[in-house]
Amino acid sequence: MELDSKQLEVLQELVGKPTPTGSEHAGMMVLARRLKEATGLKPTIDIHGNLHCVLDRNAKRTVMLEGHCDEIGFIVVYVDDDGLVYLAPLGGVTVPLCAAERVVIAGRNGPVNGVIGARPPHLMNAEEKKHVAKDDLRDMPCDIGASSREEALSLISIGDSGVVDTGWRRLAGSRVSCRGFDNRVGTFAMCEAFIKLANSQCGSGCNIHYVASVQEEVGLVGGKTAAYDVAPAIGVCCDVGFATDVQKDDKKKIGDVRLGNGAIVAVGPTYHRALVDHFRGIAGTHNIPIQVKGAPRGTGTCAWAMRLERGGAAVAQISIPLRYMHSPVEVIDLNDVAAVIELVAKGVGALDDGFPLLPEQP
Ligand SMILES: [Zn+2]
Repeated sequence: MELDSKQLEVLQELVGKPTPTGSEHAGMMVLARRLKEATGLKPTIDIHGNLHCVLDRNAKRTVMLEGHCDEIGFIVVYVDDDGLVYLAPLGGVTVPLCAAERVVIAGRNGPVNGVIGARPPHLMNAEEKKHVAKDDLRDMPCDIGASSREEALSLISIGDSGVVDTGWRRLAGSRVSCRGFDNRVGTFAMCEAFIKLANSQCGSGCNIHYVASVQEEVGLVGGKTAAYDVAPAIGVCCDVGFATDVQKDDKKKIGDVRLGNGAIVAVGPTYHRALVDHFRGIAGTHNIPIQVKGAPRGTGTCAWAMRLERGGAAVAQISIPLRYMHSPVEVIDLNDVAAVIELVAKGVGALDDGFPLLPEQP
């Protein structure tokens, strides 16, 4: 199972755009163009910034396909007299990993480059050498090359956002490293599954409503508001999931999840049993590789938002395995992305108004 060349081009273009939480619009426009070109439908963007595309089949039930489009990043909070820029994290940034990284800030007249420097080893005492990377951004100013506050503020403003500047890099085989695969790759996969459904490669008896949501990394914000608006009967969320094939000890906590072994299907109280069984069955029938993950409680994904909004949708979580989550060098296997697209398209394509969502009645 592989992505085609057009899909690869769209994914690469999408992850090439900085889309830190609150500034997702450039990414939404990439997805919107792809949707328009591939389906002829007209996507819209709501007041929060969520992207919507709807396939209305006059059905009773709507299936919401959701993936958040924001990535973790930074926001400018302070500039000192020497022109050094102080950043605060947007979402769960692993701060020590930012040492010696390049940063790009969306400035008033375009991108502004900066670096988060580190003290020369020659000047550190023995104790300091053990703690080169600080864990507080107050100790790690961003150097944009400006010599004064005035010069810095001619380029950037308080409240501008930025990301680490680590782009798309092919590794061996079908593996790729990039910052912010979380979760542009997930929303991309849902967009591609929606396109397959719209082009009737996988017919569905339900209305399908694709949402690329905003601000997941600061509390499922767009997923919540969109789920309220859409009021889906069924919600399918695609996010990234922890691969445990490098830090193997995590298997004891998360389970055995490997890059290249296919889509992660979550099983647990949050997820609708019949819906999850449906996707597992579809995977078996169509030879789509999946890995089942036990999830004891609601995860921090928008499946949780769809589950709890209004009366609550029946939800499934289908994730893309990811190494080094929330670091500048996240790694995926492109074939896992292809497996997720196939599983969602085939699985949702086989749903209709008659799919049994209610348990056996007393
Ligand atoms: Zn995340």
